[in-house]
Amino acid sequence: MTLTKRALCASLLLLGSTAFAAETAPAVSSPRLYVFECGTIAVNDISVFSPGVDVGKKKVLTDSCYLVVHPKGTLVWDTGFSDAMAALPDGKQVSANFHVRVKKTLASQLHEAGVAPEAVTYLGLSHMHFDHIGNVALFPKATLLMQKEEYESAFGPDAAKFGNDAKNYPTLGANPNQQLTGDLDVFGDGSVVIKRALGHTPGHQALFVKLKKSGNILLSGDMAHFTKNWEHRRVPSFNFDKEASVKTMNEMAAFIKANKAKLWIQHDLEQNAHILHAPKYYD
Ligand SMILES: [Zn+2]
Repeated sequence: MTLTKRALCASLLLLGSTAFAAETAPAVSSPRLYVFECGTIAVNDISVFSPGVDVGKKKVLTDSCYLVVHPKGTLVWDTGFSDAMAALPDGKQVSANFHVRVKKTLASQLHEAGVAPEAVTYLGLSHMHFDHIGNVALFPKATLLMQKEEYESAFGPDAAKFGNDAKNYPTLGANPNQQLTGDLDVFGDGSVVIKRALGHTPGHQALFVKLKKSGNILLSGDMAHFTKNWEHRRVPSFNFDKEASVKTMNEMAAFIKANKAKLWIQHDLEQNAHILHAPKYYD
């Protein structure tokens, strides 16, 4: 083999290994946050989120998913609507009030960000509603981080009472899991913290992320679906516990203030229009 050929082989080998590493997860020295668009929801009557207010008004919500890449591992936060819906050009009327569209799959957005789903370390779900769990099957090896009450509402004997049907998440029961009864500092350095935020569902939670350049961000889960409802502390008619929902919003507002954090409301289409989406990222 000539020297040139040998050099070529060596560089191809190097390219190959770089490509493999990039496909697992980007190497980082401090946390990085990616935002994905995991569908939109055209709502016929938005007052379902604010009983008695804006009755009969239409509004479009977005459905966000996120990925945190930390030096010690990766965490996916919420998984949106099922990628299978991207094959339906006109979307799907999922109930009288909601029409859902998925433009781009979560799998393709993860690929663009250089992340292999099967290599994701942790799966954090704000709660078990169908617009947050659509792609949990992409992450069968990730450790599920969930409040105990939410886990029980999904896998306990009363799942149906909470509107949960195991047929919608057949793989999730086999994921390794850590059931929480409070906050969790995921990587032990305070940069990625799951916040217990009950009310919307029995074990709803939010995610706090501390970034070096971009500052502190709280991902809302469904504490509120858009800014106006957050500001007025409005509670959707279908929330599990109205009183706890208001208490959580007040506590989290104090937390946001104390930590000089920004609140990113996951379903707020207008706010998300100003947030960079993957493959761009915040660090
Ligand atoms: Zn939701």
